[in-house]
Amino acid sequence: MNARIKKASQHTTQNEGLIFEKSSPGKRAFELPPLDVPAADAARALGAQHRASGVAGLPEVSEIEVLRHFTRLSTWNFAIDLGMYPLGSCTMKYNPRVNEFVAQLEGLATAHPYQPQALSQGCLKILRLLEKCLLEITGMDAITLQPAAGAHGELTGMLLIRAYLEKQGNPRKKVLIPDSAHGTNPATAVIAGYQVENIKSEAHGQIDVEKLRELVTEDVAALMITNPSTLGIFEQRIPEIAEILHAKGALLYMDGANMNALAGVTRPGDLGVDVMHLNLHKTFSTPHGGGGPGAGPVAIKKILEPFLPVPVLVERPDGKLALDANRKDSIGRVRAFTGNFGVLVRALAYILAYGPGIRQATEDAVVNANYIRKQLEGVYDLPYSLPSMHEVVFSDAWQKKNGVSTTDIAKRLIDYGFHPYTTAFPLIVPGAMMIEPTESESKEECDLFIEAMRAIAEEAAANPELVKTAPHTTRVRRLDEVGAARKPILRWKPA
Ligand SMILES: *Cc1c(COP(=O)(O)O)cnc(C)c1O
Repeated sequence: MNARIKKASQHTTQNEGLIFEKSSPGKRAFELPPLDVPAADAARALGAQHRASGVAGLPEVSEIEVLRHFTRLSTWNFAIDLGMYPLGSCTMKYNPRVNEFVAQLEGLATAHPYQPQALSQGCLKILRLLEKCLLEITGMDAITLQPAAGAHGELTGMLLIRAYLEKQGNPRKKVLIPDSAHGTNPATAVIAGYQVENIKSEAHGQIDVEKLRELVTEDVAALMITNPSTLGIFEQRIPEIAEILHAKGALLYMDGANMNALAGVTRPGDLGVDVMHLNLHKTFSTPHGGGGPGAGPVAIKKILEPFLPVPVLVERPDGKLALDANRKDSIGRVRAFTGNFGVLVRALAYILAYGPGIRQATEDAVVNANYIRKQLEGVYDLPYSLPSMHEVVFSDAWQKKNGVSTTDIAKRLIDYGFHPYTTAFPLIVPGAMMIEPTESESKEECDLFIEAMRAIAEEAAANPELVKTAPHTTRVRRLDEVGAARKPILRWKPA
């Protein structure tokens, strides 16, 4: 294929068939010793109607065949444990194993804070400590750990703003959102009952503060700003922006999913932010997993505290912790309480393991992104030149001349053993290539990535067809991604 490909995680076997195809009658994966007690009459014990004879349709295979089959299948997925996963905006950092160790400790793995409160003081203490750590990191006054994802945190935060304004007599009509915001922001504002008004960025990619000044009226409930923005750029004028909003009685929502660029260095609370969410599954190294185990805590300023979702974790005068569901101004429940307790344990384990070293994780993430940026400047088009934070956004403008798009380059990266970067997002950069290495990667790994990106740029010039038809080394090539999402075939059925 290409002699320069140094790093390729080739699959052990790409021709792994269905386990049903390995089946042959009578094979089994276990061997039991002869019975040394009288055989029970299963038919009588269960009732004949509950007893199957034989296992029609199940594969008959040996233990090693089962093991190899599923181990091989597992290598078809890319994972952070296999290699660099520079999917911008998603912060696919390494999840240290100590998190898993702590979450699996017997007392924690089998506990849940929804046990009777007298029995769950230990779990509640863990939640309280996590709250305190996150408040310290964000500089905010109060927090709820309940939302199950970033977008869920956004909705919770916007409902808090709505409840606060309603209490003052008028929930207002509009939410302002810059064009460099994350796509979930406008969706959230609409679900919270607001009209969205877009603010164009100024030429350098920051929010246009003069424009904002014109747009903030008594009709505006809030500005939702992603900081760093999806361009990976730090919004430098946040204190001024907060003042403009507050002068008209509006609030400042900060999408803090990108806290990986700020934690330990800057505190949004100190900058004038009123509400923000965190993505524990990004910044605090908990699993991202399929919409299940996420966590999007929402941190707020004092004025919003009466509206927190119930139950609220409170400290009793006797020092005991309790869950208070009795709060008249609460926005209500946003989910069945803390079902993802184990995820919160992992986040706390991560924070405590680093301590003040969180700052270094942030600095390393920023250094890695800027190292990659420097090494790829001149190879790919860089549409915005303000300093990068934890991610860098290039565009495919130069490769486009040869018909090679951001998607093609991303697919070709797979051949080089890397997960693709984020393609075609943010929307304000046509053909965006959004790269976020995170702090997990060594200089050596970043160098391999840079080398791969340079090699692909050369291929795009010399042999565009090679890139346009990538990937070449995977079991399947270009998938019908829409079809896969809309018409998934989730189960094998016997012919
Ligand atoms: C990931 C992300 C979100 C959404 O978080 P989910 O947990 O996927 O719902 C929101 N805003 C930004 C900036 C993000 O990067």
